[in-house]
Amino acid sequence: MSAASTDTPVDLYATDRAGLRALLEDLGEPAYRGDQVAAWLVRGVDDPQRMTDLPAALRDRLAARTAGSTPELVAHHVADGGRTHKFLLRFADGEAIETVLMRYPRRATVCISTQAGCAMGCPFCATGQAGLRRQLTAGEIVRQVVVAQQALATGRIGDVELDPSVVAGEGPDHVTNVVYMGMGEPLANLEPTIASVRWLHDPDGFGLSARSITVSTVGLVPAIGRLAELGLPLTLAVSLHAATDALRDDLVPVNRTHPLHELERAVQDYRRRTRRRVTIEWCLIGDVNDDVSQADALAAIARRLRAHVNVIPMNPTPGVRWQEPTRARTDAFVGRLERSGATVTLRDTRGRDAEAACGQLLAARTLGEGRTLPAARGAADRVGLLVAAAERGGSEGPS
Ligand code: SAH
Ligand code: SF4
Repeated sequence: MSAASTDTPVDLYATDRAGLRALLEDLGEPAYRGDQVAAWLVRGVDDPQRMTDLPAALRDRLAARTAGSTPELVAHHVADGGRTHKFLLRFADGEAIETVLMRYPRRATVCISTQAGCAMGCPFCATGQAGLRRQLTAGEIVRQVVVAQQALATGRIGDVELDPSVVAGEGPDHVTNVVYMGMGEPLANLEPTIASVRWLHDPDGFGLSARSITVSTVGLVPAIGRLAELGLPLTLAVSLHAATDALRDDLVPVNRTHPLHELERAVQDYRRRTRRRVTIEWCLIGDVNDDVSQADALAAIARRLRAHVNVIPMNPTPGVRWQEPTRARTDAFVGRLERSGATVTLRDTRGRDAEAACGQLLAARTLGEGRTLPAARGAADRVGLLVAAAERGGSEGPS
């Protein structure tokens, strides 16, 4: 993570403190200038021209070295009466990703992407259907938090004035929580994900508590082990969706490589090492994984892992043949889990009025080619609810 000494553009948010000092020395400046730059970055300022304690000539040189690393805001969707904001950001190479900001009375949560697209191929998820476009860098991951921070604090992203609802209303004016639940599989982009977690958590970075950071994974067993080794009490959310290998092999193809018993062992280990309660995510699909036998098998896993279960009725997605479950089957599923002693959250109605589906958009592809967004209902709904429930589950402290 150190700064390159060539003329390739430098992403300041992908550069650690030593790298920033080296970069400034490379520009013929004393190393302490790197600390000055770091102080701006922590405050969410990445435009060298706004780093007013740097000499003007240095600002120009730094701007030249970092040109092109700031994403462009392509669209801003407001949902849920102004409490949910979805940003579509495009990087210099044309790839686009989604970042969602959710305001609550006592916290402001950002849902961030780690990949443009995803290679995991879960058949109910539109991001998965698009395949993997490319990995995001650590800087591109961190920058989504910066963008949300700028929006909250100033009502603007770069030069773009946002809808006033982004700063209006109750709740903190800075980011308090981050969830890795946007596009992509964080643990399939492990090193940048870990580097971004460090930036977010580091007292020299944004200084967020590890507990307020949630990483959601489809279950990449070796990477869960790596995450446990960090020794940080991050909240882990595991996208289970099926409690038997036969069904999970279809719904979450990576299960063929890391079957349930392996995953359960890894999660158990994570829980013991971090002393954090884990969340199980269950996308409830009509007549696919909403029956009694899946509920019973899920309850048994949840009890063994002392995990909180977060049930999210599937968002209908273009190109996906499955449907949302009926209300009756949803209630029966949740009731059965509760009677089995599992702690369960069913989604509330947050984000219902959103106008473009989050993670459901084939955004990277369509935006990358400069076309308009496909409209789809259901939006920040999915992310908002997942996030709310995961945080509720994860906020209960050591299990
Ligand atoms: N790749 C990671 C994180 C991003 S996906 C993971 O899968 O955990 C975040 C969550 O959205 C996952 O739990 C995923 O299963 C869920 N999801 C994907 N498509 C969905 C849909 N159509 N309806 C509801 N939830 C969905
Ligand atoms: Fe990838 Fe998660 Fe979608 Fe599966 S659910 S395809 S892992 S983003």
